[in-house]
Amino acid sequence: MPWLAIPFSDLETKKALSRKFDIEGIPCLVVLQPNDHKDIATLHDGVELIYRYGIQAFPFTKERLDKLHEEERQKHENQTLTNLLTNHDRDYLLGHPRTEQVPVASLIGKTVGLYFSAQWCIPCVKFAPKLASIYHKIKQTPIEKGDDFEEDFEIVFVSNDRDQEAFDSYFDTMPWLALPFGDPAVKELAKHFDVRDIPCLVILGPDGKTVTKQGRNLINLYKENAYPFTEARVELLEKQMDEEAKSLPRTVVHPGHRHELTLVSEGNGGGPFICCGCDEQGSGWAYQCLECGYEVHPKCVITSANPASTGNKDG
Ligand SMILES: [Zn+2]
Ligand SMILES: [Zn+2]
Repeated sequence: MPWLAIPFSDLETKKALSRKFDIEGIPCLVVLQPNDHKDIATLHDGVELIYRYGIQAFPFTKERLDKLHEEERQKHENQTLTNLLTNHDRDYLLGHPRTEQVPVASLIGKTVGLYFSAQWCIPCVKFAPKLASIYHKIKQTPIEKGDDFEEDFEIVFVSNDRDQEAFDSYFDTMPWLALPFGDPAVKELAKHFDVRDIPCLVILGPDGKTVTKQGRNLINLYKENAYPFTEARVELLEKQMDEEAKSLPRTVVHPGHRHELTLVSEGNGGGPFICCGCDEQGSGWAYQCLECGYEVHPKCVITSANPASTGNKDG
């Protein structure tokens, strides 16, 4: 580190600072203003701000941060598919075979998923085949737009792979398009959408604006029914899920866990969780063993009435 430090042996000061600033996790960067200026709030989220804005965050004053937030808001407001996915020497994406160039312009007006992923990431490798099967199902569902069959959905792979070889072999398993490996847009998109964890599926609407960054979660919960991922769609699906949950048993015995599981929802003891059945995120309804912190999607519970449950209700 190029900066200063409290001596390792000075436990007292370290403890006092932790207490004073209520430090719960590390890394944490507390930013104090010059001369201990009382009118300017001490910042506790320095790590977040550095991550988000880099050197721009300095001097961490309210004016500075307001300006940055405003710039960001405008950037998202003016966001279009073209300014997100092209740059001055590239106006295409890669198709299959990899030498095929698909113009970004051909995606305008479609719902587009940006799939941030990499071959070295195990959850990504697990999620990709699931996404591929749902991608095909969504593409096969004609959208009512007069008599014409219109294909309204596309996915673009935004690779975080470490080398061209890994990119090539991973992209070959995907049925959708990709930004070229190492393209500057890759980093810009990750920053623009504040992507921290992969896999991440950001959904853009037909107007190029962000619909949701929760595409992965919605795919896990609702599969192809999640399309077109809009708030109205999700609300409808949530209502359906609540309706379906009424017919679910309050408690189940699931072979994957030694205790009886209880049905919970966001309102009564549930909340976002990682399903112990499929290792994916869940929210809304779940079967839970509070004692062990064991939670599964209702669709991931294997019961005698549903012995071959694969989670696909519609078959
Ligand atoms: Zn599950
Ligand atoms: Zn238990």
